[in-house]
Amino acid sequence: MNIAFQRAVPILEKLEDNGFEAYFVGGAVRDAIIGRDISDVDIATSATPDEVKKIFLKTVDVGIEHGTVLVLFQGEPYEVTTFRAESQYVDFRRPAEVKFIRNLKEDLQRRDFTMNSIALDKHGVAIDPFSGMEAIKLKQIVTVGKADERFTEDALRMMRALRFHSQLNFDIERNTYEALKHNGHLLQHIAVERKLVEFNKLLVGNNRKQALQHLVDTGLYIYLPGLAAKGKHISALEEYDYAGLTLEEMWAFILYGLKLTEPERKIILKSWRMPAKTIKYILSLSEWLHDRFTAHFNKQSLYQAGKQKALSANRIYEIITKQERSSGEALMEQYHHLPIKDRSELQLTGDDLMDWFNKPAGPWIKACIEEVEEAVVYSKVKNTKDSIREWLLRCNQN
Ligand code: ATP
Ligand code: MG
Repeated sequence: MNIAFQRAVPILEKLEDNGFEAYFVGGAVRDAIIGRDISDVDIATSATPDEVKKIFLKTVDVGIEHGTVLVLFQGEPYEVTTFRAESQYVDFRRPAEVKFIRNLKEDLQRRDFTMNSIALDKHGVAIDPFSGMEAIKLKQIVTVGKADERFTEDALRMMRALRFHSQLNFDIERNTYEALKHNGHLLQHIAVERKLVEFNKLLVGNNRKQALQHLVDTGLYIYLPGLAAKGKHISALEEYDYAGLTLEEMWAFILYGLKLTEPERKIILKSWRMPAKTIKYILSLSEWLHDRFTAHFNKQSLYQAGKQKALSANRIYEIITKQERSSGEALMEQYHHLPIKDRSELQLTGDDLMDWFNKPAGPWIKACIEEVEEAVVYSKVKNTKDSIREWLLRCNQN
């Protein structure tokens, strides 16, 4: 058994010692079987959240209403979730009411795909009532039960199918795929935030290109913010080799492919309800990408964009223009030689200026600092107080 599971075996034992059942479940079990790196080890148990809290010293309530308690064990957090059945679904979203149960099989039955419905006991023996192992062997994404029904219960599962396709490079089983084609409209009922989580994972999966094509072929894209009329544009991305882009780079790349104006780009990112900081970053990256089409980075633009954005914009540019991909080394060399990397390094303050010119504060200060900043970046003046002062006084006399 994987070391990450071994470390958590005492949690299962403790629950069992107290008369409950407990198993490893979810994505970690799937990934361990596939041989991928595993992320968080999740545990399912017949104990209710209150019972779990009585057994373990250190717990955090993270989602009691869904039956989840975080157990801190030897410095690691583990989500321990009570077996549950999701009986009633309303509005095609997660169930209105969660019913705690004592039966593992029923808990596995409410899970989305068979590969995600395998439990492991403390000895590493699999409990696999829905043939998840078989699906993994066949590299197939198959819903537990009838796909139409499962997608009607919770339409987000359709997005999850595509993101797993992107991450794992598994095929989507025929019936499951057909159901994606018929039920896309149900995605309208799903919160944008939940869609974004899955879409972002899709965008950085190894098989992202094919996943995006499936997004178009199944018609699911129609129900994603800002993409409804953009099927052709998404399909057209197919011609580029964009493997390896980071999430923010992917967004900038897609925004480019959608052929949007600057205000439109902003509207689309906002409609995905991304955090303001992320929106700002992607928009700025998009701007630098567009600038890159008119000119190479020079000292000033490299300084303004900063290392990360300059490299990213350049990488996307090389993809779009189908150039051989460079390592960005030349750009980094250029960056490395900039006299300053940030305004905070400038040996000049507003107080200096007021002092030297004997003038009160005003808009002139900002303008003057910017002028000096550019001069320093272009090595027209050395970044020391004396040199800057001398340079400014000389300029002022002319
Ligand atoms: P990842 O490795 O990306 O976290 P994961 O499979 O663990 O993938 P999670 O969103 O963390 O995905 O969900 C954990 C488990 O909960 C899944 O493996 C699945 O069994 C179940 N699950 C999650 N979301 C749903 C859903 N919408 N419907 C049914 N079961 C779900
Ligand atoms: Mg997970």
